[in-house]
Amino acid sequence: MSEATITVLPGDGVGPEVSAQAVKALRAVEKRYGHTFTLHEGLVGLDAIAAEGSAISDATFETCAQSDAILFGAVGALPAAEHRADGPRPEQALFRLRKEFGFFANLRPVRPAEALYEASSLKPECLKGADMVFVRELSAGLYYGHMETVPGKPSEIRQRGGRTEAVDTLLYTEEEIERVVRVAFDIAAGRRARVTSVDKANVLSSSVLWRQVVDRVAADHPGVTHEHMLVDACAMRLIRTPAEFDVIVTENLFGDILTDEASMLTGSIGMLPSASLGVRRTAGGRFGLYEPVHGSAPDIAGQDAANPVGAVLSAALLLRHSLGLEREAAAVEEAVEDVMRDGYRVPDLHDEGCTVVGTEEFGRLIVHRL
Ligand code: ATP
Ligand code: MG
Repeated sequence: MSEATITVLPGDGVGPEVSAQAVKALRAVEKRYGHTFTLHEGLVGLDAIAAEGSAISDATFETCAQSDAILFGAVGALPAAEHRADGPRPEQALFRLRKEFGFFANLRPVRPAEALYEASSLKPECLKGADMVFVRELSAGLYYGHMETVPGKPSEIRQRGGRTEAVDTLLYTEEEIERVVRVAFDIAAGRRARVTSVDKANVLSSSVLWRQVVDRVAADHPGVTHEHMLVDACAMRLIRTPAEFDVIVTENLFGDILTDEASMLTGSIGMLPSASLGVRRTAGGRFGLYEPVHGSAPDIAGQDAANPVGAVLSAALLLRHSLGLEREAAAVEEAVEDVMRDGYRVPDLHDEGCTVVGTEEFGRLIVHRL
């Protein structure tokens, strides 16, 4: 049995609704497998700004620092009327967490549920067997190349020699590549033992270095096969033959684009979980932040209509990557699949012959399965 401390930051919009289902799933795992999870809840985003004056208070931040993992809902956008140039903004919470905890690997599993093949943009025969994990580098690359560039703020456009120009720098150090590639090989070792490293080595120097590091790390993992693939070829193959991928590792911008593309295989943005792994080690893996891929979805907030699957599957990733509880993670994933197979759907995926239920009820069905 394990003991773990988890900070829950439900946030704005549908964040609290979907986070509540993820918490229910964690409590069910705790009970069934005899673990002890201590859960702390904190304010983040709009509520934190209203109550505490910033998107995440020092106290909440400190609670996170004392935890094994963070379960995050979503943060919304400030209403235009409340915008002040130097005022706090909800998204600053994520920037601060990312920066201080050094999240460098963003994991996004994409496994279209068989029951949802019809909802996907692809033909069912293409999707059969599709089950991949993206490992996107999150701390460097084009988004950070310039020291003076603040994350989330576009780099400056400037005047030089009578012309208007803008420059972004794609910078990677060997260490930045190596640590994320190691995460990818470790994950592959526990799956189908296949790594696809995606780059643009026919054009970019950073990709040439990337390939060298991947080949070197691969030598430490004789049980894992690996290949290099150009990003344009990868974009095509994700649509044509998605089942051929196991673990895909790539730099920041390529990962940003490819994960959005691959997300369309699953039918709805509400289905997708994510993990951001940091530098600190925990007893069961790495400290991490776990959140559904979707945002605060203000258009459907408060209607019990949000799909909680992305949030619940994020809790499964938390069990796997921060607490080292693989069996429990797999049980949560299986419970979600079972509920879908039984014909239950949240409104975003309603289908003929299916039973449409609300967020709460869908969460209860998952717990019941667990
Ligand atoms: P934010 O500013 O927080 O990113 P957004 O509206 O830009 O919000 P999302 O929150 O990701 O982006 O929403 C995009 C669309 O997807 C919206 O129409 C929303 O209703 C829908 N959506 C997002 N999450 C879910 C969910 N969990 N279940 C169902 N629909 C969702
Ligand atoms: Mg958005």
